[in-house]
Parts: sequence; C-alpha cells; structure tokens
Amino acid sequence: MMELGELALRLAEHIGAEYAEVRYQQFERAAMNLKGKELTGIIEGVDEGIGVRVIVNGCWGFSYTHNLVEEEVEKTVKRAVKLAKIQGGKCEVKLAEADLAKGRFQFDYKIDPRSVDLNDKISILVKGIENANEIAGDKLKSVDISYFDLWFKTHFLSSDGADAVQSGARFYFAFRVYGLTSSGVFYDSERFGMIAGIEKLEEAIIDVSTRMAKRVVNQSKAESPPTGPVIAILESRAAGDFFHEMGHSFEADSVIRGTSAFEGLKGKMVAVGNLTVYEDPTIPNAWGSIFFDDEGVKPKKTILIENGVLRGYIHSRETAMRLGEKPTGHARAEGFQYEPIVRMGNVVVKPGDWREEELISETRNGVYIAGARGGQTTGKGPFQFQASEAFLIRNGELAKPLRSVGVSMNILEALKNIEAICKEANYYITLCGKGGQRMAVTALVPTMKIKKVIIGG
Ligand SMILES: [Zn+2]
Repeated sequence: MMELGELALRLAEHIGAEYAEVRYQQFERAAMNLKGKELTGIIEGVDEGIGVRVIVNGCWGFSYTHNLVEEEVEKTVKRAVKLAKIQGGKCEVKLAEADLAKGRFQFDYKIDPRSVDLNDKISILVKGIENANEIAGDKLKSVDISYFDLWFKTHFLSSDGADAVQSGARFYFAFRVYGLTSSGVFYDSERFGMIAGIEKLEEAIIDVSTRMAKRVVNQSKAESPPTGPVIAILESRAAGDFFHEMGHSFEADSVIRGTSAFEGLKGKMVAVGNLTVYEDPTIPNAWGSIFFDDEGVKPKKTILIENGVLRGYIHSRETAMRLGEKPTGHARAEGFQYEPIVRMGNVVVKPGDWREEELISETRNGVYIAGARGGQTTGKGPFQFQASEAFLIRNGELAKPLRSVGVSMNILEALKNIEAICKEANYYITLCGKGGQRMAVTALVPTMKIKKVIIGG
C-alpha cells in the first residue's frame, strides 16, 4: 500500500509542493440501532482510501480518493496541488518543527469486534435494556440504543519524515431512556465509548443502563427547581461537559479566529489557584487517545491552566507556528476524506482533596447536578446545558429530585467561582461535532462545587 504513498509524496514534490503528506486509512465498522429489543437498523461495512494534503506557495491543497490504484492516486495528488495553486499564493502557511512519529503503534484489545457475530453483540446490548427494565419497572417507557464498533488503521507519511502506522478497535453507544413522570415524559441520554475490544462492552452497558434506570425512577417523583444563582455541586460527568465546551477555547484555531474565551490571557490568572487543567491524548486506551495525530505529530501532555494561570493552547503545526508555540499533536481528522483541524483528545482536571459525600454534607443550601447534555457555548458567551438529573441539597443532604434543570454559567466567572474539587473523576465521553467532523473526545474532571451557578426550569 505505502508504495503508493511514497509515489504520491514524490509526485507532489515534483510538481511543486513544498510540503506533502499522505494519510491512508482503513475502517471496518458495524453499526446498529435498537428500539427496545427490536432492531431498527443495521450496517456492516469496510471503507478505505487516501487523503493527500500539500502546501504550494504557502497555500494548502487537499484531495482524497477511495480508489487505490496508481493512476487515481496520481490524479488525487494533482488535484491537491491544483487546489493549492488556485489560491494564487495569497496565504502564508508555515509548519512548526514537530516531533514526528515513526514506527508501528497498536492499541491493545482482546476481542476483535470483526470476529464477533452481530447477534452476539445484539444480545449484549439487550442485556442493558433488560437491566434498565428490571431497575425502573413501569416507570421506564422505552429505551433506544445507537451502537457502533470500529476496527481502524492509519498509515501516515510526510515529506519531512513522518512514517507511522496506528491501529486498534473501539466501540461506542448512546443509551436513551424515556420515562413516565407526573408531568409527562422524561427523556435523557448518555454516551459511552472506549478504545477496546468487545470484552469491555457488557460491563459498560450494564453500568450505563443502571445509572439511567435509577435516573428514570428519581425523575418520576421530581419537582420543579428553584430559579436563580445557587451553589451547585457538578458531578464529574456534568463538570466534564462544562470542561469539554470550555476546552474549545484552548484550541488555537479558535484563539486565532477570536472566538476563544482565553484569547490574550496567556500568563494571566483565569481561575481559582487550585485549578490545574491539561490535555492528554496519551492516556492508554482512553476514548480520545491517539499515538500520533493526523499530521503525524506525537501528542504531548499539555498544561493549559496551572494553579489558575493560563499556560498555553493546543495546536496543529500551523497554529503553533502562528502563535509561536510548540505543536502539541492535536490536529485530527474524522477520516481520510477530511483535512485535520485542531481538536481536543482528553481534557483532564487535576484531582483535589475532597470526597463527594463531604462536599454534599458541607452544603446547607444548593443543587447537585448529575450528568449533562446539550452543552452549548459561543466561546466568549455563557455556557448552557441541561442537567440530566438534579437534586436539591438541604442541610447537607440530597433532599429531593428536581425536574428539567437548565444550567447557565459564564466560563471565566465560573472558573473563579470553583470552591472545591474532589478526588475521583469519571470520563465524560462524546463525539464532538466541531467543523462537521465527529471526533472521539473525553473530559476527565472530578466532581466540583461552584458558586453563583444560574439555574432555571
Ligand atoms: Zn465539542
């Protein structure tokens, strides 16, 4: 295969590219939807192809093909060069020196998803549905599951020396519940994914379905929330949703575009003094992890906020050059048909000293927020989300469940209103949709207490 890659690089340079890269990718996917125990959609497929990106006269050109024969690959290179030339040298792209990957890398897994019969996968997913039904009984109206698994392989080559292969397996599902309450239907969903084989699927579906079913039971007796600013305890996954949305402001392309909440604040105090945040795509087998990014750069654990002070951003080679920083290995693309853009991998908040029970028992009046969905921010504006589950806290105890709690915070104010950070954290998992490319990312953020959080029904 990579003889074609070498050929493409040589041709690109021969016809005028000052830089060229070739990304060969192969995907084998199974996907299905369940509505209750009924199968409503199922797909199995194989996809492969090659993406070619070049710089000519300081301008990017990109093209791709599914057709892996010499003639088509040559056409693809010529298209990429032509697209770069069309821009007439009116761009000034330069790439920062980077630690480029060489060699073969593989994510560990035990059971290859390609080796498992579809009926066996369905049986595992149905166990999750049965588990939820058992816990929630007649309070649970229905369950939907969207599932996929993927075996993937990328071979990346560049004219400045990257030559590396990474491969592995991953699975993902969204578990959606519809429950009955006195005021109508309650809806919630949670997403789960990891880089692993099918050996991890059953444990995951039982864990998620248990949590969701308990949520349905609690919501069946929920009451209207108070409104206005409250002291809120954001359970780990809700805090993770917040830090994911905020995390877009660490992406250097948003800093350059002027949409980052952190633009111009490097070296400044942006949070409470005990908050340290970093980005780490090297955590073994985490949903957002990679061995190298889609520019062939080996990712680094990158400090973003250290003891409250903004230290830096995450980068592609181009944004690192523009901002005078070092590439961090965060240029990622959904597949060979896409150009890489700056993306998070795993955003991590350094754990604190508190235990969640202590935080609750120290709170006289407040709201406990477990899980979040529909997070939205414009970067500089407010951050809003819908709590999956919330409880009123009275005199150090979870007093009663609250119904449809909307939460709103200003990012920079909220970072200075953090009062306590817990020891333990769970992964918040998502397929982020930035730039129309779905990307596996996580946030690993401990439960935390934040004051002056605005809530409403
Ligand atoms: Zn996102």
